[in-house]
Amino acid sequence: MQTHIDVHCPANGELVGSVSITPVAEVRGVVERARAAQQAWGKKSVAERAELLRRVRVCVLARQAEILDCLAQQNGKPRTEALMHEVFSHLELLTYFSDEAEHILEPSPITSRLLVHRQSYVHYRPRGVVGLISPWNFPFAIPFGAVAMALLAGNAVVLKPSEFTPLVADLGRAIYLDAGLDPDLLQIVHGYGDVGAALIDAGIDMMEFTGSVATGRKVAAMCGERLIPCVTELGGKAPALVLADANVEHAAQAVTWGGLANAGQVCASVERLLVHDAIYDAFVPKLVEKVKALRLGDAMKDAEFDVGPLVNERQREIVERLVNDAVAKGAVVACGGRRAERPGFFFEPTVLTGCTEDMAIFTSETFGPVIPVMRMKDEESMITEANRSHLGLLAYVFTRRREHGRQLAERIRAGTVMVNDVLATHAMAETPWAGVKNSGIGVAHSADGLRHMCEARHVNHDLVPWFSRELWWYPYRAGSIAHLQRAMGGLYGRGVDRLKRLIG
Ligand code: NDP
Repeated sequence: MQTHIDVHCPANGELVGSVSITPVAEVRGVVERARAAQQAWGKKSVAERAELLRRVRVCVLARQAEILDCLAQQNGKPRTEALMHEVFSHLELLTYFSDEAEHILEPSPITSRLLVHRQSYVHYRPRGVVGLISPWNFPFAIPFGAVAMALLAGNAVVLKPSEFTPLVADLGRAIYLDAGLDPDLLQIVHGYGDVGAALIDAGIDMMEFTGSVATGRKVAAMCGERLIPCVTELGGKAPALVLADANVEHAAQAVTWGGLANAGQVCASVERLLVHDAIYDAFVPKLVEKVKALRLGDAMKDAEFDVGPLVNERQREIVERLVNDAVAKGAVVACGGRRAERPGFFFEPTVLTGCTEDMAIFTSETFGPVIPVMRMKDEESMITEANRSHLGLLAYVFTRRREHGRQLAERIRAGTVMVNDVLATHAMAETPWAGVKNSGIGVAHSADGLRHMCEARHVNHDLVPWFSRELWWYPYRAGSIAHLQRAMGGLYGRGVDRLKRLIG
């Protein structure tokens, strides 16, 4: 039986370390330890918990070089990207939530229209133990963003990281412990899908899963059987719509970065490029020029480069298969289109033109450094094509007309639409990160995301005593119906609208 996972660098194949697999039979015990530790943690004030996050922030700043090394070894992304997408964005999230959590989680009063003699409020209490299952593409920022939010909400956390980047998770935990966190409040279980499934079955109170649609379905089904709240952040197939009046230089630069950052292994990547016929001949050569200029590299050896490797051979095969299918159906390779001739799982940054709806590259998530382009006759067909996908995480619109861009953005069925920019909203912790359609259920980040890490409990108390008893409790009296009918007429009858109009 396998007891360890060896971790290899995707840029050069070197062994970088290994982790012990958590036996499935031990996962329940891990959750029980987390639950015991959560009792005291959950009783602390939000302000005290926010203090811990502020200390984590200091520790992240102090150990940033280690984080970058760890990401370079296991994910292979350029250090600039690692710093920007993983460290910088985590510091921002820690800062936003530690500053705002008290306000976000303070009880919110509700005044009833109907029962005016009573008062309600919702207060937020920890759920207990939150389980997290996370992917390899942002192995620090994604899990630890959720870790920070779950802890702040008063929960304990058990994290099952991807088998491809487990050492990043271990380092992240060590940083949280440096800041003074009780080790039982943040535990890691290592392993494959069976360990993830065991975590869902181990008595957790909530699951936040980030990964593929296929696994997301299984996770949601397991949570459904156990009636555990479940947030799923799944795949994307983001369209970028380049309208006739777009700024060519700006849009080409944005799409190049938005399609190829992290070697295209981003759920928000530009995966479908829709270019208006009127700008196509100016735009596409500019895009190809920019993509051709990108440099491949190994973050362990090269100081300056733009695009790293794919995470593993399986991912490279998926990309290769989708490119070959598109070419067989008539797409033209404007640049790239094949494996790079060097060690590691590199694929050349690629632009495919002449793409059509029947190509899998336009329907399945590629998760690689490929920008497939479709020439579009008008804006209506661009909107139709943008909405054709079964996924709806991100979308992008490029135009010089800001108001028009906003109007088009509202017609695209995606969790987030950016006008004249790409990818960046994941770093804006105050905004919701959520997919529609098959891209997921629920929301990460934002005030709503933090509140969802809590049980929202409603308290309703009296302002005027005895009122309910006099009006509608037993015993029912002969006049009760007439009395209720008068009340209904007063509250909902025609006179109400007339009165509202008179009052203005
Ligand atoms: P997977 O769905 O393959 O794996 C995600 C995690 O689930 C891994 O830790 C995996 O473990 C685990 N897992 C696998 N099977 C099960 C199971 N039956 N029960 C519980 N857990 C299981 O995704 P990838 O890691 O390949 O990540 C890439 C995907 O993530 C892409 O589709 C991407 O779009 C999506 N993603 C979505 C984001 C969003 O915010 N919407 C952000 C980032 C990525 P193991 O690795 O051992 O198989």
